[in-house]
Amino acid sequence: MGRKRVFSGIRPTGPIHLGNYLGAIKSWIQLQDRYECIYAIVDYHGMTTPYHPAEMRANVRELLIDYLAAGVDPERSILMVQSAVPEHTELAWILGTVTPIAWLERVPTFKEKAEQHPDYVHLGLLSYGVLMAADIVLYKAEVVPVGEDQLPHLELTREIVRRFHHLFGVRIFPEPQALVPQDTARIMSLTDPEKKMSKTLGPRSLIALSDPPEAIREKIMKAVTDTGPSGERMSPGVANLFQLLKIFGTEEEYRSLRAEYDAGTLRYVNLKRTLADAIIRSLEPFRRRRAELENDPAYLERVLRDGIRRARAIARETMAEVKEACGLLRDEPGLGEAGVAAAAGSKAAGEQAPEAVERR
Ligand code: ATP
Ligand code: MG
Repeated sequence: MGRKRVFSGIRPTGPIHLGNYLGAIKSWIQLQDRYECIYAIVDYHGMTTPYHPAEMRANVRELLIDYLAAGVDPERSILMVQSAVPEHTELAWILGTVTPIAWLERVPTFKEKAEQHPDYVHLGLLSYGVLMAADIVLYKAEVVPVGEDQLPHLELTREIVRRFHHLFGVRIFPEPQALVPQDTARIMSLTDPEKKMSKTLGPRSLIALSDPPEAIREKIMKAVTDTGPSGERMSPGVANLFQLLKIFGTEEEYRSLRAEYDAGTLRYVNLKRTLADAIIRSLEPFRRRRAELENDPAYLERVLRDGIRRARAIARETMAEVKEACGLLRDEPGLGEAGVAAAAGSKAAGEQAPEAVERR
């Protein structure tokens, strides 16, 4: 029995930020020892919100560099690009035929994105959750390390799996579980701290792992707070900064600034200066590794080729089972004569064919 599988992905919609790292990638790295992990650059998902085709390939490359620089290890994990493994969309189509539209209309990210881009509400956006379900179950993944915003998608995935099994009378897929970090499942935007930090909310609202030190300092200094400690509940902007300080600062920095806040004497400029220094310090090794990888296109290509090949081998196996269960033609080399003949009910295809038709 092989190791259990993990699947997760990020949209190539811009450089990864602290939310992506703390919500997802940090867990990805920890899981690499115990699981067979597949980490995807989900470019088809990237197409569901407005984007520039001319930037897509560069974004995919940058995201690959981000993964590697953050510590995803291609020797242990599979790094791949969604559109390079056509089984993702093939399976999404099939799962789409068992997914009631009402399930998709109530997914919160659908509603949010539809509000954000009212001129860009299309079938692909509605069926985002079906494609995501396909991404996960194609590899029979059991664990999906993600931020909190993805929980409804995981619930939907489990519902789709149950319905597929029920309708076709099979048990092919595990019901995947989300793995959400305890304290960092939802990092908030710096400019609008009621919303989560997101790549598509613009560069000022986030700290990218690849941001140069001056940019990090400037953005933290401009982060939205409030007019000062008021003795009431901490405002979301300040809470977000303290949360980041807890992760990136020293224990002493956190403890003393928090004590000042509680005493009502904290000047936010001091909190921000300390936090900016701490983040800059912590991201230094990432920036160094990133610069090395930028200069090694041959290595990047090797990593992707290898990852796509390994992913595809798993994907093909699952699709053979799925097609069998659904009564579709088998995926034999060049659509093997036996498969086609079987579908046509021809006897010329040999003894196997008619029996195969009946079994379906
Ligand atoms: P986009 O705006 O393009 O949707 P995003 O920042 O939301 O970008 P995704 O590619 O949608 O990033 O998500 C990648 C992973 O990062 C997911 O597992 C998601 O849950 C996680 N994630 C995204 N934003 C945050 C956040 N603010 N806090 C914690 N986790 C996050
Ligand atoms: Mg998102």
